[in-house]
Amino acid sequence: MNCRHCNAPLLHTFLDLGYAPPSNAYLTKDDLNRPEFYFPLRVLVCDRCWLVQTEDFAQAEALFTADYAYFSSTSSSWLAHAKRYSEDVIKQLGLNNKSYVVEIASNDGYLLKNFVAAGIPCLGIEPTTKTANAAERLGVPVLREFFGESLATKLSEQGKKADLIVGNNVYAHVPDINDFTKGLKALLKPGGTITLEFPHLMRLIEGVQFDTVYHEHFSYFSLFTVSKIFASFGLRVWRVDELPTHGGSLRIYGCHESDSRVTDASVDVLLKEESIRRLQSIETYANFQVYADQIKSDLLAFLIERKREGKMVVAYGAAAKGNTLLNYAGVKPDLLSIVCDAAEAKQGRFLPGSHVPIVSPSYLENSQFDYLLILPWNIASEVKEQTAFLKQMGVRFVTAVPKLEIQ
Ligand SMILES: [Zn+2]
Repeated sequence: MNCRHCNAPLLHTFLDLGYAPPSNAYLTKDDLNRPEFYFPLRVLVCDRCWLVQTEDFAQAEALFTADYAYFSSTSSSWLAHAKRYSEDVIKQLGLNNKSYVVEIASNDGYLLKNFVAAGIPCLGIEPTTKTANAAERLGVPVLREFFGESLATKLSEQGKKADLIVGNNVYAHVPDINDFTKGLKALLKPGGTITLEFPHLMRLIEGVQFDTVYHEHFSYFSLFTVSKIFASFGLRVWRVDELPTHGGSLRIYGCHESDSRVTDASVDVLLKEESIRRLQSIETYANFQVYADQIKSDLLAFLIERKREGKMVVAYGAAAKGNTLLNYAGVKPDLLSIVCDAAEAKQGRFLPGSHVPIVSPSYLENSQFDYLLILPWNIASEVKEQTAFLKQMGVRFVTAVPKLEIQ
């Protein structure tokens, strides 16, 4: 396989998680009587542009038939994050009723509703029907298409170039990163701004966040690599913010290469830090599997020991992260009997691969158990607060990443 950005041959494995089912393919009871599909899950690193990327495999189309739709608005902290961003960026860029804002992967309108409320013309691009319908109910205009160069060219020919293009957690999920970036260039008005948010590879490595790897997550970015990709299509990163979301994300601000804005010091500072942490050195990537394997072994040992003691472990959070971890560790319901999740669409279903049944969080109030394994470690403190009553019942909290911790 060659690099999806620079086409150099990919010679180095960053992480090999074996085989895994699609992370969002939650199963019904009937599905448990059918065969389940597993796909290779390997991540490679390019030693020329340092893009970390999932490996291609045969019959990949079959992976994306799962019809589960994630609604951004179900997370109150994410809604607050979106509102703060909207207020800041409107002020900072001086957006008004003559501006035009385009969000790629606008989901259920969680973000653009703030621009609608401020009277700023906007457009969401979102191929998933269920979420697009929800956005339209909030007054957000939506185009039900995938974004790329051809759509961007069509929009710009219709005079719909954007003063602001927003992409939150979409850049890392795009298979054809070059086509998407060319689209950003084609859609951006002269003097316009692009902001993209994505998990930061430096934090992934530092926090051994190997469970953020799943098939739909195609790219894992450093600022170095994103700057390189932008530069090869006539764009420039002129500012970067570090955010605490998803275990450490970046929000980059892009513009046309020739834009009059000077590049902010934040860009150089972070590029230097990435270089000090040797993000352009193959050893950094070659050692990562060892740390991931340690987490897997520790979790498995913990679950087996508890079972031998006759103790019961319950999990919280039926999200992609947990699925990657449980499937890599080979955990089944004999070791982990149940997982609670607030999303009603998941309740009554089973986790892909591990087949752990998903129930409502009300289970926690009415049941006897000994440990609560919090799978989404990025919201562990939020979960602990919400379930503080368990402490009085003698339940102990467990997180597995970056290392096994029992409180
Ligand atoms: Zn490359």
